[in-house]
Amino acid sequence: MNQEETDFEPTDMPSASGHFGRFGGMYVPETLMTPLFELTEAYKEAKQDPEFNRELDEYLKEFAGRPTNLYFAKRLSEHCKGAKIYFKREDLLHTGAHKINNAIGQALLAKRMGKKRIIAETGAGQHGIATAAICAKLGLECVIYMGEEDMRRQSLNVFRMRLCGAEVRGVSAGQKTLKEAVNEAMRDWVTNVRNTHYIIGSALGSHPFPMIVRDFHRVIGEETRRQILEKEGRLPDEICACVGGGSNAIGLFFSFLKDKEVTLTGVEAGGRSLESGEHAARFSGGRLGILQGAKTWILQTEDGQIDSTHSVSAGLDYAAVGPEHAYYKELDRINFGYASDKEALDAFQMLCKIEGIVPALETSHGIAYAIQRASELPEDALLICNLSGRGDKDVQEVAKVLGGN
Ligand SMILES: *Cc1c(COP(=O)(O)O)cnc(C)c1O
Repeated sequence: MNQEETDFEPTDMPSASGHFGRFGGMYVPETLMTPLFELTEAYKEAKQDPEFNRELDEYLKEFAGRPTNLYFAKRLSEHCKGAKIYFKREDLLHTGAHKINNAIGQALLAKRMGKKRIIAETGAGQHGIATAAICAKLGLECVIYMGEEDMRRQSLNVFRMRLCGAEVRGVSAGQKTLKEAVNEAMRDWVTNVRNTHYIIGSALGSHPFPMIVRDFHRVIGEETRRQILEKEGRLPDEICACVGGGSNAIGLFFSFLKDKEVTLTGVEAGGRSLESGEHAARFSGGRLGILQGAKTWILQTEDGQIDSTHSVSAGLDYAAVGPEHAYYKELDRINFGYASDKEALDAFQMLCKIEGIVPALETSHGIAYAIQRASELPEDALLICNLSGRGDKDVQEVAKVLGGN
């Protein structure tokens, strides 16, 4: 394979201080510095321990259902009259999305560190369910923080977490959604850090979390690379994924960062419009700032207050993007676009109708881009889109939005 020289080494990122270029870092209260350093050390050791990696692989295989298929969407490709579209089927994993990869990895890390209590935040509930499931499996105590507004919108997911033995604590501050749930989880962690590990749900927050979450999702891209070489005998022309915090995207992209001939595209939530408060496209309306531990692109007002956000999909509805994405955006290695609520809903329906697959609304943003992009590419081009999760959780919301049509 003809690999061009690149001016960066992905595996060296982040730096020892937790920076991806000028992004990332550790912007946390003093009391959290020691536990974050301990976590960094413990993770470094675990990563080099064959026994830890063997156990991780076993859980990914036996509990989560890896490897997932790389699926050729034949009818959708024909419909688009362009590139061959492949989907990486993370929707087929246990609990319905890629989130279980990270939840398993961090829960095993917590067990190794002797921490018997797990806390996590959740927005739509997918990360909460993945965390509750692996905690049940490992016999760990589990507390999930969730905004009261999200609990109301996702009551079925709250029940699923409780069925798995998790305690779900409602958060009534502010907008009562994900940002407030993260604050509450951080507060708990500061207080209980001796026996508690905080499993953050995306490639966000203070170092070492963006690195740890990325690494536990790298298996997505490693499998994809192997599978496309088996099926097509060459690398794809382009790969794409939706970007909330950015964990499914960086997990898929990481193994392709050095292959400059492969275009990488992240798709953010364009919401109703690019007016302030109507979307979550950080790279289209955000500015550099600091939120919940990391320096990155953030949707904020003129005087630095965090802006409200909107997306039809709760999982993309967050004011900050993972710092590693900000870095590769600056290097022009990852391109970013966005899909609107309407485009995502259209893509959702098209995938159901043409391929018989019900995707998550988050995922549908990536699919919307893939459909449009495939039609611009020649017929011998290869386009891979990460199918990050299944849409069972969204069916009711879609029915409501479409008015029963
Ligand atoms: C949570 C979620 C996302 C967004 O999170 P990332 O960290 O950006 O991957 C995307 N798709 C699905 C199905 C999700 O559950």
